[in-house]
This record gives sequence, C-alpha cells and structure tokens, in this order.
Amino acid sequence: MTKPTCWCCGKPIAKKVQTLYFGMSSDKGEDRTAKPKTRAEAQLHNNFQLVSVRYAGRLDNDYVMRASYWDGESYISEFFCKESCAAEFGKDAARSIKERRLVRN
Ligand SMILES: [Zn+2]
Repeated sequence: MTKPTCWCCGKPIAKKVQTLYFGMSSDKGEDRTAKPKTRAEAQLHNNFQLVSVRYAGRLDNDYVMRASYWDGESYISEFFCKESCAAEFGKDAARSIKERRLVRN
C-alpha cells in the first residue's frame, strides 16, 4: 500500500497509532509499571508494529516511557492531514462548483 498524502497540501497523512505509557502506576486494570529498556522490549508489549518510542531521559539506566504501535494499515484520515486542510479543500470545491454553475446559466 502506498503512503496516503493530503489532497489539499500534499503532506503525508499520519499513521493512526496506539500509544502505551510505561513506568506508571497501574491504570484501568492494565499493568503499566514495566520499564522497557529497549525498542525490542517495548515491542513485546503490543502485537502491532512499534513505530516510535520516547525515552524518559538520556541516562544509561533509562527506559521507554512512551511507545507508539501501528497496525500496518490505518491512517488518521483517508484524504487529509488535518481538519483545516479538509475545510480548505471543501471551500475550493464549493467555489469551483459555484463557478461552473455561473458559467452554465
Ligand atoms: Zn494537508
């Protein structure tokens, strides 16, 4: 599958990811107290593909505090990178329809 780009500005549309936080107290019955040291360890916490991590700091004993996982196919939108692009594109479309109507009459 090719990467979708925005119909308005042409920028790539962001992947829709699941984000997990680590090194925290247990939340909603899920244990998030684990502190994965590496990307490989963080990958073990979710079946989806690990696409990005953020470390808690820059020390040697650091751990992954946030990890984002992607299902391999979902994007935040089918057509646009952000809502303002959708609005802009909609206005352009409305303008061209209006112009065509004026020409026809
Ligand atoms: Zn855009």
